[in-house]
Amino acid sequence: MALAQSPRGPPGDPMTSLLITDIGELVTNDPQWASAGQSAGQSADVARLGLVRNAALVVEAGRVAWIGPASLAPQADSQRSVAGRAVIPGFVDSHTHLVFAGDRAGEFAARMAGTAYDGGGIATTVAATRGASDEELRALLTARMAELRRQGTTTVEIKSGYGLSMDDELRLLRLAAEVTPHVTFLGAHVVPTEYAADRAAYVDLVTGPMLAAVVEQGAAAYVDVFCEPRSAHAFTEEEARAILLAGRSAGLGLRVHGNQLGPGPGVRLACELGAVSVDHCTYLDSDDVAALAESGTVATLLPGVEFSTRHPYPDARRLLDAGVPVALATDCNPGTCYTSSMPFVIALAVRELRMTPAEALYAATAGSAATLGLRGRIAVGEPADLAVLDAPSHVHLAYRPGVPLASALLG
Ligand SMILES: [Zn+2]
Repeated sequence: MALAQSPRGPPGDPMTSLLITDIGELVTNDPQWASAGQSAGQSADVARLGLVRNAALVVEAGRVAWIGPASLAPQADSQRSVAGRAVIPGFVDSHTHLVFAGDRAGEFAARMAGTAYDGGGIATTVAATRGASDEELRALLTARMAELRRQGTTTVEIKSGYGLSMDDELRLLRLAAEVTPHVTFLGAHVVPTEYAADRAAYVDLVTGPMLAAVVEQGAAAYVDVFCEPRSAHAFTEEEARAILLAGRSAGLGLRVHGNQLGPGPGVRLACELGAVSVDHCTYLDSDDVAALAESGTVATLLPGVEFSTRHPYPDARRLLDAGVPVALATDCNPGTCYTSSMPFVIALAVRELRMTPAEALYAATAGSAATLGLRGRIAVGEPADLAVLDAPSHVHLAYRPGVPLASALLG
């Protein structure tokens, strides 16, 4: 709630200004500072972070009002020193499945003992989620959102997909919208068991009455589909095409789960239809990479999934070298990757995907932000979505894996 008070109100008032100072390293992702880094001889990946050393910034009314060297900082109503720590744009987790009930730790243990993953466990979560009350789901979601913020994530996308009936999908979308404006309709997560004998009827439901209700209620900004012909539970190319085309015609943006379990049509379909993002991208051939490079569709890598399913990691270097825009996200879900930690994902991206620390941080902020129509940068006029690291440099995110360095700075 916005309170109409004077700009010189008490500390904590949203209209007062706050000076955050003694920032050892400020990561802005802003091209204005990036060009300064490049002329100072930084490598291109580091320069792109737009680093400002010994920096300060002023926050006013929830937005960044000033950035610069601490020695030149203007007066503000209140002041907070971060004592030489690094400040970065808050992480943008652009792929999560946070609204669910139940627990699949047993499935994880079985997988670590050698049982293969094929997407079938999703039905377990669907049953638990359908059986949970709104209050139970809201409490679980609220706790997960707090967990994300404690680890430096300030923006999150949330998908439905554990309802898979008209009422339950709409319920999950409503609950997601209580905590984020970035909501995705994933009625096409898997074919629910009650439709196993008549897949076409389920696709008709998703593209027909379910989508119509989502659009009528303004319940989601995006539609997503798990396009994976290798899974008996997920959707074929033709089914996925029908779902994405229906969503696009209804005015929704497109996101796709593609090429997770093996080579497949998901990536090329996403590029062809103008999806903002295709997520997983674990198995790519040269046509997939070329399609990504030409289309501008973002390749969102989710290496926590490969960690948790013991699958091979995606080839991030090949994508980066081809000029494909790359994002990182958690895919936080109870089956294939139950982590909410963007720092963990960054550590994996650096260690296992051979991204540089600078590339990984950019992909986890500006890269993922781009898939939500945001910039993920710290610049004057932008929302003050900030994270602080209990460390002097962004490199520590990968250098000190598993150590809780990052947290949301405000609020
Ligand atoms: Zn997912």
